[in-house]
Amino acid sequence: MKVINLLGATGSIGRQVLDIVADNPAFKIGAIAVGKNIDLTRNIIQVHQPSLVSVLEADDAIKLEQEFPRTVFVYGEEGLLQASTYGKNAILVNAVVGMVGLKPTIAAIKNRQTILLANKETLVVAGEIINKLVKEYQTTLLPIDSEHNAIFQCLIGRKKEEVKKIVITASGGAFRNKTRDQLAFVKKEDALQHPNWSMGAKITIDSATMVNKGLEVMEAHYLFDLPYEQITTVLHPESIVHSMVEWRDGSVSALLSQPDMRLPIQFALYYPKNSNPPYQHCLDWTASRELHFQPMDLNRYPLLNLAYHVGKEGGILPAVYNASNEEAVSLFLENKISFLDIENIIVHAVGNAKNKKNPTIDDIMDSSQAIRNEIKQTYLRERMYI
Ligand code: NDP
Ligand code: MG
Repeated sequence: MKVINLLGATGSIGRQVLDIVADNPAFKIGAIAVGKNIDLTRNIIQVHQPSLVSVLEADDAIKLEQEFPRTVFVYGEEGLLQASTYGKNAILVNAVVGMVGLKPTIAAIKNRQTILLANKETLVVAGEIINKLVKEYQTTLLPIDSEHNAIFQCLIGRKKEEVKKIVITASGGAFRNKTRDQLAFVKKEDALQHPNWSMGAKITIDSATMVNKGLEVMEAHYLFDLPYEQITTVLHPESIVHSMVEWRDGSVSALLSQPDMRLPIQFALYYPKNSNPPYQHCLDWTASRELHFQPMDLNRYPLLNLAYHVGKEGGILPAVYNASNEEAVSLFLENKISFLDIENIIVHAVGNAKNKKNPTIDDIMDSSQAIRNEIKQTYLRERMYI
């Protein structure tokens, strides 16, 4: 039986992890961490009976303690760290959103736990440090993100030296059929309508701006130790091909499935053995099906272009890109800025940043916080950069 510590249990990925492990004797939930969704947390405690629960606010911990006297409640940043490293030999599923996932990942690596990573921001902001630590502590980091999980599966039994390039597919997000001019008038409600996937708010906006693909390019760089020249993207509106590996001879391996995050989650949970997966969701091969691929237009999606730039430059720049995006998306979700302001904010933040090579975790945390504060204040002073 595998014991799981699940961060972000109330989120889109977290809930799907819980679906897979419910009534499944192969798994048990050891600890969970959540933010502010206390109603759903009550539900999860009743069904999965974790021994430890971390919430964001102290008040919520006190309230829940009275309702569930047999459960340990902790809170805040310290609580998140306790939940990630709770118990002996638990695996960590990191499905919180944003770079708040970084420190718990590091704590779990140092505790020699296997980590199933949905939280891509961790690798974007501190990929080099994470990779060094994974080596030093001899732990395993498995990707849940569907594209990276697909590439991981394609690479099984093959060598990195055989790879010509990896091809990350992108659905194009909510606005894939709009011109850049039309983007000036789009609303939050429209941006939250992803054509193929039902996901948390932040990643859904990231898909519409193509920042998600930018983050994924950097995530792939660190996960598979490939230079940016060997990482490419292609538009694939059906989200059936989850990504591809092109080998040196020109042949291509791809992973196809329904767009259903339970499949990569289940694969990672059972890895390395998955001979009789309880959850199945098959493609119907008796029906006709068309799959389309279009070259990525980096002028249409400048934030993907910028991601390649900050990725290649390295240092603190990926963290600047990520922090400015986190703050911009949060302002957009509060209806405080327009959709195109997100782009303006990120371009402005990266353009003004002084790069610092080999940043420490403190450098990354401090500069991310400083950038977020500055964007918030600038926004309050005058309405944006346009
Ligand atoms: P959601 O917004 O649906 O869920 C986020 C989770 O994180 C919630 O449980 C939330 O708690 C919790 N959370 C947020 N802030 C904190 C905090 N400070 N402390 C503790 N918990 C916190 O996000 P998703 O599930 O969509 O995404 C999670 C991660 O997985 C992201 O990094 C995303 O990029 C990645 N990912 C997601 C995919 C998807 O299909 N959704 C696909 C591939 C990757 P609460 O709700 O209780 O406040
Ligand atoms: Mg993805």
